[in-house]
Amino acid sequence: RAKEKNRNQFCFFTRQMGLDNIKRIQLESELRKSIGTDRYELYYQPKINAATRKICGVEALLRWKDEKGQIRSPVEFIPVLENSGLIIEVGEYLIHQACHQLQQWHQKGFNIRFALNISARQLLNSNLVRTVQSALSESGCDPHSLELEITESVIMCDVTTALDKLVNLEKLGVKISIDDFGTGYSSLAYLSRFPIHILKIDREFIKDLPENKDNISITRSIVELAHNLKMQVVAEGVETKAQQEFLDTLGVEEFQGFYFGSPMPLSEFERLYIEANESAIIQ
Ligand code: C2E
Ligand code: MG
Ligand code: MG
Ligand code: MG
Repeated sequence: RAKEKNRNQFCFFTRQMGLDNIKRIQLESELRKSIGTDRYELYYQPKINAATRKICGVEALLRWKDEKGQIRSPVEFIPVLENSGLIIEVGEYLIHQACHQLQQWHQKGFNIRFALNISARQLLNSNLVRTVQSALSESGCDPHSLELEITESVIMCDVTTALDKLVNLEKLGVKISIDDFGTGYSSLAYLSRFPIHILKIDREFIKDLPENKDNISITRSIVELAHNLKMQVVAEGVETKAQQEFLDTLGVEEFQGFYFGSPMPLSEFERLYIEANESAIIQ
């Protein structure tokens, strides 16, 4: 009877859904197999301080090499890691790696803040605070130089749990930033109750600056509100000089985007940092 039941269930799937499902299961199994290997690699994208014109921070962005050696985008595999729960294990590894890298950079004289992305399951369903605490103490890195990027939708998903976790993370000394701000369903007034230090304006609003009048108003209001709430503002997705110049006039503290550098492997980033910070990355 069980067999029959399964057969009937199977009938609800279209052929395409079946293939997609098989692909997802295969991807999940490959992702699982490669935990602990160099098939996961962090890429680094610089953040530039508007006042000093130097690299002041970096966002670590995960890459994964599939069995053919192709580098795959996190847009594709982070949801699979999330749904399968694998993100907890991978995420813990990344938090330890981040703290270790941060400490190494400081020993090399790099004056830099290290930002790591944290997804819903990591924040809400794992022992994130304990993981961060042990990574900080094992590495000996400066907690104030570690930043965790969290999207507003994750916070709004479970406000009570999120608030509790963020308060405890702040107690450890780490910085919290709101990623992709403006795309979720929260208001800054609401978020002011949370220990948030940095706000990252989503690149959707930066995209067609300085031409798009709506986006001019939106970015201007976001910057004003954030500053009133004593938060720093980072503009993401800055691709042109015109965008950077316009954002400069708004008083945005930091820029991030292809104009200054795409996400790149560790060695390339270190080279860029040394080169850029001897002079200045933008004139
Ligand atoms: P995000 O945190 O908003 O990361 C910024 C994304 O925008 C990155 O895509 C980056 O490559 C891209 N980007 C940066 N500058 C520009 C630009 O000037 N123009 C354009 N068009 N795009 C730009 P990426 O690396 O594909 O990452 C996508 C998302 O995957 C991230 O969005 C983040 O939510 C997630 N993600 C990446 N790494 C991790 C990780 O280690 N853990 C978790 N939980 N999520 C991650
Ligand atoms: Mg991010
Ligand atoms: Mg972002
Ligand atoms: Mg984004």
